[in-house]
Amino acid sequence: MSDYKLLINGQLVAGDMTMPVINPATEEPVAVCARASKGQLDQAVAAAKIAFPAWSRTTMDERRAVLVAIADVIQANLTDLARLLTQEQGKPLADATGEIFGASAFFRYFASLDLPATVVTDDATSRIEIRRKPLGVVGCIVPWNFPMILMAFKVPAALLAGNTVILKPAATTPLTALKLGELIKDIVPPGVVNIISDANDLGGEMTTHPDIRKISFTGSTETGKKVMASAADALKRISLELGGNDALIVLDDVDPKEMAPKVYGAAMQNAGQVCIAAKRIYVHESMYDAMCDELVKCANAAVVGDGLEQGTQMGPLQNKAQFEKVMGFIESAKQDGKVIAGGGRKGDKGYFINPTIVRDIAEGSKLVDEEQFGPVMPVIKYSDPADAVRRANASIYGLGGSIWAKDSNRAWDLATEMESGSVWVNKHADLQPHLPFGGAKFSGIGSELGEDGLKEFTQVQVLNMAR
Ligand code: NAD
Repeated sequence: MSDYKLLINGQLVAGDMTMPVINPATEEPVAVCARASKGQLDQAVAAAKIAFPAWSRTTMDERRAVLVAIADVIQANLTDLARLLTQEQGKPLADATGEIFGASAFFRYFASLDLPATVVTDDATSRIEIRRKPLGVVGCIVPWNFPMILMAFKVPAALLAGNTVILKPAATTPLTALKLGELIKDIVPPGVVNIISDANDLGGEMTTHPDIRKISFTGSTETGKKVMASAADALKRISLELGGNDALIVLDDVDPKEMAPKVYGAAMQNAGQVCIAAKRIYVHESMYDAMCDELVKCANAAVVGDGLEQGTQMGPLQNKAQFEKVMGFIESAKQDGKVIAGGGRKGDKGYFINPTIVRDIAEGSKLVDEEQFGPVMPVIKYSDPADAVRRANASIYGLGGSIWAKDSNRAWDLATEMESGSVWVNKHADLQPHLPFGGAKFSGIGSELGEDGLKEFTQVQVLNMAR
């Protein structure tokens, strides 16, 4: 019997099936958890539909109180949740702790927002207001790289706007989400939040479900396209946070020694499994050799291991399929460039890959053109900064990007030319709850976080009265 149950209509429910969850550091099962059937998804949606009218009529203060209570219970269970996250996801415990804390902070952030009606006209002839109405049942679909923080981009915003929720974590990282269900069972009214886990087989059922009014999806671009296509029939609202291939451009006035650890960190956090990791590093020719040498030092000094072990800086790839995919990127990079650090698996147990640096590589190579989503960094030479930006923009993706220079005004001007949803200067991947986050081009549709992210969970209504 599994300890990790579904949350349906306020009850913890055993799955119609069960499934093992593998610790990527050991390749051993962490736990056996519930796996929902299509019938259980239908039950969850029915419960959310029944719960919607009452929840949507609660006051903002009542909803805020629920969000704060969820934030409190996450924080109160920080240590256990972080440990579980490391076991199922692989990331070092300090990073897992940061992720869980971040999730609670995002619930608190959304609890500070409001959705006031805007009075456009109020005179002798008419009163016109623009209001924001909830949509109904919202499906939140989450990937495996940041199971908790990405959940917290969606669930509190959906709830604050007055929607009810079906949360579906990724098949390889369901445990923290199911644990959350246990923790919030008595905090949230029955049916308002339902949590189901699947074996990668219920996402499509959610996107076609007639009673789900919106899908908030984070995952790969390929799956995002399927979500968009299958949502068309019911004209379902969608927001898509998809893949990226962020360029990080280093201008010629920086000190390579000082710069290299920052570039390394931007690319290798979470073993490179970050949608806004720096995935293509463009370095000016005047310091190319020096920068490559410094990056090699960073890679060789990294402590790769089980995230539960003290001192580990980089954990394993999260799952076997991703491990194999990244090993494929390394093999192709060996043909297209020169591997100067790492270049293969670490050990023979667990999905560990040594942080890998590849130089003398350029566009036309799979490692540069596609999203590697792993600890393999292509370092690309350029001579003209405007050309580097043009090459950065010549990608189907447009999630993030950054320009680094001592002369920050010069970097700022170049940054304005970048075709991505977020552009940073002298930093990378700085996400803050009040800033809208979304992708250009194939990196997504719509945005999350901030007031824009909250509004994505609403329908505009104009209320227009004659006097
Ligand atoms: P994935 O697309 O394989 O899976 C994501 C989720 O979608 C999982 O919960 C999965 O079960 C579900 N799913 C699978 N098939 C589905 C279908 N037909 N319809 C609906 N849902 C379905 O992605 P992944 O491999 O888990 O995650 C890695 C990808 O996510 C990378 O490309 C990464 O860049 C991207 N990502 C993007 C962001 C962002 O905010 N833009 C953040 C994190 C990750």
